[in-house]
Amino acid sequence: MQIRPRAVNDETSERGGVSPLVLGRKPSWKEPDGVRRPARKHLALRCVRYRSVKTTSLLVVAFLITGLGTNTSCWAEPPRSLIEIKVGKEQFSGRIVAADDRDCWVFQRDGRMSRVRMDDVDDCSEVDPRFRPFPSLELRDQLKTEFGRDFEVKATSHYIVVARNESAERYAKLFEQVYRQFHSYFVPRGFRMEEPEFPLVAVVFPDQASFTKYCRAEGANPKPGVVGFYLPVSNRVALYDRTTSGRTRDDDTNDTVIHEATHQVAFNTGVHSRIGQSPQWVVEGLATLFESDGIRAKQSGGSSLDRINPERFEWFQTYRRQRRVPASLESFVRNDSAFQRAALDAYSEAWALTFYLAESRSAELAAYLRSIAARDPLKPYTAAERLQDFRAAFGADLTLIESGFLRFHDRLAK
Ligand SMILES: [Zn+2]
Repeated sequence: MQIRPRAVNDETSERGGVSPLVLGRKPSWKEPDGVRRPARKHLALRCVRYRSVKTTSLLVVAFLITGLGTNTSCWAEPPRSLIEIKVGKEQFSGRIVAADDRDCWVFQRDGRMSRVRMDDVDDCSEVDPRFRPFPSLELRDQLKTEFGRDFEVKATSHYIVVARNESAERYAKLFEQVYRQFHSYFVPRGFRMEEPEFPLVAVVFPDQASFTKYCRAEGANPKPGVVGFYLPVSNRVALYDRTTSGRTRDDDTNDTVIHEATHQVAFNTGVHSRIGQSPQWVVEGLATLFESDGIRAKQSGGSSLDRINPERFEWFQTYRRQRRVPASLESFVRNDSAFQRAALDAYSEAWALTFYLAESRSAELAAYLRSIAARDPLKPYTAAERLQDFRAAFGADLTLIESGFLRFHDRLAK
C-alpha cells in the first residue's frame, strides 16, 4: 500500500488553469503586451505582483527557483542549494524541488517532503549553496533519539531500519536484499534507476497498537486491516511485526516488507515520481510483481511460470471467471476507481497486467514508466492523458492489448 500525500492535482485544478511555475521549466507564455519575455524575469514579475505583504520572501524564493533552474526538467535536475524557510514558528530547511505561485515543495535533509504555501512564508534565505542530505550516521543517531531505548537502529548500504532489539539486523538485511533484487531485476530489462538521494528509513513496530499510534502521529490514517505502508511525505516505510503478536507466520511480515520496500525503492530511484501522480495500478502492479520469489530470484530466463505470483494469479483467475467485466481494460487504465470498489480484485488485475507487460513487453513497460515519471509533477494527470500515455506505449487498439493480456494468462493457467 502506498499512502499518497494530499493530492497536488486537486489543488492545481482548483486554480482555474494557472500555469504552475516549475523549477527549470522554460515557459513560453506572452505578457499581456504581446512581448515574449525570458522565463526568469517573468517569474520574478509574477511573484511581485502576486503578493505585496511578503514580497521579500517571495522574491527570494523566486530567485532561488529561477536562478538555479535552467534545465528543462526541474524534477530531474533540481537545484542543489540548502534554503531555510520560516513559516510562523515553524522552520523548514531543505531544497526546493518544485514550485508554483502558490506552493513550493521542499525535500528536507532527512528525506521528508514538505509543502509550503507561499502566502505563509515569513522569511526565506539560502544558507548553503550546496544541499546535502543527512549522512547515514547522523540520521541513525536522530532515529535512536526519536524511537528511544526499546528500539535498535541498523544501517546497511541504502537502508536505516528501526525495529525492536534483536530483530533490527534481520529486517535491515531483508530490506537491503529487496533493494538489490529490485536493481538486479529491473536494470537489465531497460528500467532506469537512480541512486537514492536519501538513506531509506523503515520502522518495524512490535505490535499493531504502536503501529497505529505512529500512523496517527504521521497524519496517516490507514484503513482497518492495513499492516504496513510507504508514505511519500515522510519517505518512510512503517509496518508491524505480526509474528510477535502470535497471529501469523514469519513469512507474512516478510511479504509486507517486500511489498512496501518495493514501493519505497521505486519512489526513491526515479521509477515513480514522489510528487507527481502515478496510476495506482502501475504503483501496485510493480509492488505485487515483486512479491513473487521467482521475480526476485537471481536466475533470469526460464519460464514465466517460474516468476508467477501464485496468490495474485489465483485471485485474478477467480475474479476473471466470476466478476470481471469484459473489455474493462480501458476503465482500469483511465482511473483508480477499481481500487475503491474491490481492492483485492484491483490488486490482482494490477499484478496480472504488470506481469504480462513485464514478461512480454518489458522495453515498452520501461518506456511507459519513464514517461509517467517525467511528467510535470504539478499538473493533474487526467483520465484522457492516462489513456493516451498507455496507448502511446503499448498500442492504440485496447481491445487487441486486452485480448493479448488475457490470452497470456490463459496459457499460464493451462
Ligand atoms: Zn502497495
